[in-house]
Parts: sequence; C-alpha cells; structure tokens
Amino acid sequence: MKTDEGADSVYRNMTTFLLEKEPGFGTHGGITIPGKIDKLGYKGVETTEMVLDNHRVPASSILGGTDGRGKGFYQMMDGVEVGRVNVAARACGIMIRAFELAIAYAQQRRTFGKQIVDHQAIAFKLAEMATKVEAGHLMMVNAARKKDSGQRNDVEAGMAKYLASEYCYEVTTDSFRIHGGYGYSKEYEIERLFREAPFMLIGEGTSEVQKRIISRALLRDYKLS
Ligand SMILES: Cc1cc2nc3c(=O)[nH]c(=O)nc-3n(C[C@H](O)[C@H](O)[C@H](O)COP(=O)(O)OP(=O)(O)OC[C@H]3O[C@@H](n4cnc5c(N)ncnc54)[C@H](O)[C@@H]3O)c2cc1C
Repeated sequence: MKTDEGADSVYRNMTTFLLEKEPGFGTHGGITIPGKIDKLGYKGVETTEMVLDNHRVPASSILGGTDGRGKGFYQMMDGVEVGRVNVAARACGIMIRAFELAIAYAQQRRTFGKQIVDHQAIAFKLAEMATKVEAGHLMMVNAARKKDSGQRNDVEAGMAKYLASEYCYEVTTDSFRIHGGYGYSKEYEIERLFREAPFMLIGEGTSEVQKRIISRALLRDYKLS
C-alpha cells in the first residue's frame, strides 16, 4: 500500500501491512471480499479481490515492525523473484504433460494408412515441443539454483519465466492441434491444459514486463562507457 506520497523515490513509498479478515465473502469492518472471480482456468485456487474502505490498523501490523515502513516495494519484489521461478516451474509442468499426451496420441491415431507420428509434419512438431520443454526446464532450474545460493536472481527469474511461459503456451497449443477434434472435448486432458497455459503468460508479470527487466539489466551490464 502507498503510504508516503512525499517520499523521494517510488521505491520508498510503499509499506506492507498484515491484515486479519473474517472467513468467507462479504464486508466486515472496512474489508470487502466481493466473491469468487469466474476464470478460464486455474480453478484449483479461488481468486477474489479485497477492497479496503476506511479500515484502520495499528502500526504493529506493519510487516517488519515500524522499521518496515517504506520497505514494501523491496518486500514485494523479493517475493516476486521466487514467484517468477514458481510460475516458470508451473509452466514446465503443464508443457511436460502436454508433450506426453501429444506423443502418446500421435502413436495411437492413424490417418492416411499410418500413425500420425509417421507424418513428418507431426514428428517435427514433437521434436520442437521436446526441445522447448528441455530449454524451459533448464532455465527454470538455473534461476532456482541462483536464488537458492542466496544471490539475487531477478534477470534469471525474468528470463526463465518469460521463456517457460511462452514455450508452455506454444507446446500446449501444438499438443491441442495434434489431438485434432478430440482436443476440443473436455473428455481429453489437453482441453484443460490448453486453458491453464495462458495464465502462465500473465501471472507474476507479463512477458512485456519480464522483457523490461531483462533489457534494463542488459543495458546496465553492456553500457558503453
Ligand atoms: C487468476 C489471477 C490470479 C492472480 N493472482 C495474483 C496474486 O496472487 N498476487 C498478485 O499480486 N497478483 C495476482 N494477479 C495479478 C497479475 O499478476 C497481473 O494481472 C499481471 O501481473 C498483469 O498485470 P495487469 O493485469 O495490471 O496488466 P497491465 O499492467 O494492465 O497490462 C496490460 C497489457 O499492457 C502491457 N504492459 C503494461 N505495462 C507495460 C509496459 N511498461 N511496457 C510494455 N507493455 C506493458 C502488458 O504486458 C499487458 O499486455 C493475478 C491475476 C490473475 C488473472
């Protein structure tokens, strides 16, 4: 929450508060939880909003105590670096499963007298998908290891999140195509994965935001003196 509008930097005008709320939806003491948002996918987790209106809390609810005042931006960004690796890992999980479904289906379905995997167009698609899965996974593990070693991983996490989520979207779409008409039916698992993939492009910052972070760091490292 923005707390110090007069702060000399946007990085120092936010503070994190820990709030208690009543369970469930509705309005209680200045906190409104309007209700569940109906979504394309990501249905295992409920998503809602929290609206604050004249809700007062004591200074003791600041994260980090009174020393935490104005440190909200850094606290949130620390969480976001882990969160971006988390989304990259989720993207890997979705695309690995989409690939497994595609390579199995391609060996079952026959058209024009042969398994569809024997059409080079399908075999090459599978080769591209497997390469994307491998690349996304390696970048995600690289970003996780850097954070694990106690170093900042903003660029690696941004690159991993960007690449894994874009590849997840592409691999899932290719798996959907390989399933032909069956992929459009809820009877087949790929239909759900096809709906899960887009959120990976958005959550914890869009691809455009990752590219801003990556390009800024590149210009810092490769600045002409
Ligand atoms: C199901 C769901 C759950 C979520 N859960 C959480 C959560 O738990 N915690 C949380 O903090 N957030 C959560 N979010 C929010 C999510 O992180 C944001 O929606 C996401 O980061 C995109 O921000 P935005 O919606 O404000 O898009 P906007 O910032 O409005 O972006 C709109 C478009 O403009 C582009 N854009 C914006 N700024 C720039 C720029 N500077 N340069 C170029 N292009 C730009 C974007 O890439 C995008 O294409 C959730 C979102 C969803 C859908």
